[in-house]
Amino acid sequence: MEKAKPKSATATKSRAAKKPVRRGRRKRLARSAYSPQEVGEIFRRFSVQRPEPKGELEHVNAYTLLVAVVLSAQATDAGVNRATRGLFAAADTPQKMLDLGEDRVREHIRTIGLYRNKAKNVILLSRALIEEHGGIVPDDRDALVKLPGVGRKTANVVLNMAFGQPTMAVDTHIFRIANRMRMAPGKTVDDVEQNLLRVIPEPYLQHGHHWLILHGRYVCKARKPDCQACVVADLCKSKEKTCDVPAALVPLA
Ligand code: SF4
Repeated sequence: MEKAKPKSATATKSRAAKKPVRRGRRKRLARSAYSPQEVGEIFRRFSVQRPEPKGELEHVNAYTLLVAVVLSAQATDAGVNRATRGLFAAADTPQKMLDLGEDRVREHIRTIGLYRNKAKNVILLSRALIEEHGGIVPDDRDALVKLPGVGRKTANVVLNMAFGQPTMAVDTHIFRIANRMRMAPGKTVDDVEQNLLRVIPEPYLQHGHHWLILHGRYVCKARKPDCQACVVADLCKSKEKTCDVPAALVPLA
């Protein structure tokens, strides 16, 4: 039997040259069920409903926003606001928070879940801000996630609300909507974040996460979506939707 000829170095080289160059592995994201025009129309309607959407966590500066978001894990915004009104009146800078001390911080926030751990983190992150950032909240995700108690979602909220960066902070509402509507499906929070950043048209990215949170909190609710009150009911491709007629598109108070 004739032996297979060894491949010449030149042939191997030219085949290798035709191979596409891999520029780092990129995870394949699940496809959106919507065309770019449909996603654009959904966000256009959200923007008519709420031209200037705002987060519901009360704060007076980037630092108090950061603290409020850290405190909001597994707590409602209303519950956090009740606790932070007194806390921020006493301390609205990292130095004032250190001066207040962990015991007093704990007293202010004792109505919030996990308050002991959160009080500790508020003091630790205030100290880290003073020692590593001159008391200023950094506008950089890598620096933010190194602070005690600060994860990617918290960093994204702060970058978006305090520094105007078009980030997507995926919370429980956004994760649910992205999958339920099949707009940006994903098994993990990171997948949904990447998918939403890919499908939402650029002009709507800045406010995108607020529109989705508010839609999830008040209309496309976890247990039973209120499709009768939904302004995108005609466009929605969710298997759970119960109505095809969109609600009147008017700015909300
Ligand atoms: S139609 Fe229903 S399921 Fe679809 S986005 Fe609106 S509320 Fe959610």
